[in-house]
Amino acid sequence: MADLTSCLELKRDLLLAPYTTFGIGGPAKYAVIVRTASEMEELLNWARLGGERTLIIGRGSNLLLDQRGFDGLAIINRMEWCRAVSTQIEVGAGYSFALLGVRAARSGFSGLEFAAGIPGSVGGAVFMNAGAGGQETAEHLVDVEVLTLAGNRMRLAREELNFSYRTSPFQTDGSIVLSATFQLKPSDRARDEQLISLRNRSASQPLQEKSAGCIFRNPPGRAAGKIIDECGLKGRMIGGAQVSYKHGNFIVNSGAATSSDVLSLIAHLKEEVLRLSGIFLEEEVRYIPYC
Ligand SMILES: Cc1cc2nc3c(=O)[nH]c(=O)nc-3n(C[C@H](O)[C@H](O)[C@H](O)COP(=O)(O)OP(=O)(O)OC[C@H]3O[C@@H](n4cnc5c(N)ncnc54)[C@H](O)[C@@H]3O)c2cc1C
Repeated sequence: MADLTSCLELKRDLLLAPYTTFGIGGPAKYAVIVRTASEMEELLNWARLGGERTLIIGRGSNLLLDQRGFDGLAIINRMEWCRAVSTQIEVGAGYSFALLGVRAARSGFSGLEFAAGIPGSVGGAVFMNAGAGGQETAEHLVDVEVLTLAGNRMRLAREELNFSYRTSPFQTDGSIVLSATFQLKPSDRARDEQLISLRNRSASQPLQEKSAGCIFRNPPGRAAGKIIDECGLKGRMIGGAQVSYKHGNFIVNSGAATSSDVLSLIAHLKEEVLRLSGIFLEEEVRYIPYC
């Protein structure tokens, strides 16, 4: 196996649970925190040469990691720089998406108000095309800098990229998001609107509990949480995993939940919802198997 440069500290058997909002996940064979794009390039090259699987972890807020861990290289993205030029803002993929939303709105710019309630990284938000309240990440993107599976670094304009509801091209082509540029509009109401939406969120979502946000995508024209509620499934529990009483689309880790508990509860909810309402629910949360 090739050597890494001395400034990259490769850890063996690092427990991944603390790097996720669910608080679930066993140890990674290798794990490393990256702070620059060149470190990311070097690591991917190293993994490719050694035949290691890789997993990028942003803030781990849409991830269900296996309790046995990850048999490969987990790359924890902390490329956290941020540069504003006029009405555009360019950010490293490891930057907090919530912080970006707050900074933009506080500086009097509209476009990323919704981001304040999303506890992910910029890279994770682009990868998931995260959204809320009618806004989504792709809407205000100017371009994205990526590292392709083949190891090429390139900047892609928004027009070249096909985004849709909670879907980005990177979910299928395997590229890593290194940075993104957003176009914002001046607004003197952005922060007030953001605060209203944050208050609504804390009234309707179990934000004090460990979760990965919404487990299922919303079927067209419907809210998955409402469907689960109408099927009488709020509070349903398997092991340490429970459907939140506050929001039907959240599964919370009530203490010692394992990935198997969560997967069993997901399967149960899908089965019951299909039986009771004829609706097929599809996962939004990304399950990462051990190998
Ligand atoms: C309380 C709570 C509320 C939430 N509310 C919302 C909401 O309103 N709307 C919404 O859309 N989501 C919401 N989420 C889900 C989650 O925050 C978003 O999907 C977020 O965009 C995920 O970002 P992340 O950095 O945490 O990604 P992670 O969970 O770390 O990773 C998710 C996926 O993205 C990949 N990935 C991460 N970074 C990169 C990168 N740089 N390049 C390539 N791939 C990458 C990972 O490999 C993984 O497959 C919520 C979650 C929680 C816990």
